[in-house]
Amino acid sequence: MKLKIYNTLSRKLEEFIPIEANKLRFYHCGPTVYWAQHIGNLRGMTMGDLVVRTFKYLNYETLHVRNYTDVGHLTGDNIGDADSGEDRMEKSARAQKLSPDIIAQKYIDQFEEDTKAINLLEPTHKPRATEYIPQMVEMTQTLIEKGFAYETDLAVYFDVKKFPDYTKLSGQNLEKMQKDAGKGDVSDAQKKSPLDFALWFFKAGVHKNSLQSWPSPFKSKLVKKGRGFPGWHIECSVMSKTLLGDALDAHMGGVEHIPIHHTNEIAQSESANNKKFVNYWLHNEHLLVNDKKMAKSEGTGYSLQEIMEHGFDPLTLRYFFLTAHYRSKQNFTWEALKNAQASLEEMKNKIATLMLFTKEQQAERSEAALALKQKFENALADDFSIPQALATAWETLKSEAMPQEKLQLLFEFDKVLGLKLNETNARQTLSDTPENIKSLIAKREQARKNKDFKKSDDLRKQVENLGFELQDTPDGIRIYKK
Ligand SMILES: [Zn+2]
Repeated sequence: MKLKIYNTLSRKLEEFIPIEANKLRFYHCGPTVYWAQHIGNLRGMTMGDLVVRTFKYLNYETLHVRNYTDVGHLTGDNIGDADSGEDRMEKSARAQKLSPDIIAQKYIDQFEEDTKAINLLEPTHKPRATEYIPQMVEMTQTLIEKGFAYETDLAVYFDVKKFPDYTKLSGQNLEKMQKDAGKGDVSDAQKKSPLDFALWFFKAGVHKNSLQSWPSPFKSKLVKKGRGFPGWHIECSVMSKTLLGDALDAHMGGVEHIPIHHTNEIAQSESANNKKFVNYWLHNEHLLVNDKKMAKSEGTGYSLQEIMEHGFDPLTLRYFFLTAHYRSKQNFTWEALKNAQASLEEMKNKIATLMLFTKEQQAERSEAALALKQKFENALADDFSIPQALATAWETLKSEAMPQEKLQLLFEFDKVLGLKLNETNARQTLSDTPENIKSLIAKREQARKNKDFKKSDDLRKQVENLGFELQDTPDGIRIYKK
């Protein structure tokens, strides 16, 4: 099967060809752990999970790195002049009167609880940026030695004009970018161009009270031992190199990373390693709330906690995420989440009913089942078209395939969908069962004890005609609603 991926670098659908057969080297830009992640971030993480699950489904060995940024991500990093603003970790640490390290651990723990609840697979590695400082210093040193970077008294910068392909990912016009960036807040008079971005900030100037700093071999008149901290972009270049090598198959992140963060990662990695950094760049679109950008200030930066406080299961949110393609914007409303809840419940009810009929495995699949499997895989292969894959799961439930085949297919599909369908248990307890049904069941029990099997079968039929199913198990009778 040929897997096609929309590559931001070429702006085309391309057939996926791995560096090494049946192996995926995948880097996903993880969260900056200064605050509870909102559901927009969780959607991005879920889109990465679907990519990894697809490769696993296709029997690839997957090396999956999703990092934690716990230093150096400035508030201005996503908006033009990449070197402006305050370190997010520090801002949060000061506001909560906790150390950056404790802040990081607090939000890593919370994020991991969230990702578990929405059933994201554990990445192979989850590096924290602060654990890779020596390697960041080393790559920065390499870039200075090769003439791609220079020191000022406030920072070490990457010299953008030394990398002619700087805009290959974004397709932006460098001159226009230069003009726009020129209007930004350039607080370092020694910086050659507003487009240059920091690889290392010295503990000086606006960062002189920085809470996290490390010694370095870089030179500044303002600090001893080159003390400072890494820029955000070098972190991903270094963690991916250390854990996955100089060349990656795929790299993913939100669309906001195209013009700055990922553009800068390419410039650093390709200049330092002299090798093409990433073969396939994947970017997910954003989650909107009520058709608007999510905003903490408007109370729409919902966390998973808030979703659960509204009475929704985290997997309902996952189901909702599955209904839109990663390259499309998705609009969150409470109404849409309710619809997702109803759909997921209906799916699980249908599965619970199917489970009644499936004791024996079927050796050979029918043509109908094979066609459904093919359809599901075609959807995956078409740039991870998960909404189509989900539609195929529904089609399977409604199809002519045998009940046991339907179940087998759904459980296979669920390796990608991740809805925990095989944990479905829609069994009703006897206490929820209507009185008339209870009385029929009691009569049937009596008939069975008397070995009056004809009467017992008649009573079963009466129960079934009233919309209930009975299953005799070693633990007693199970009653299901049809
Ligand atoms: Zn990154």
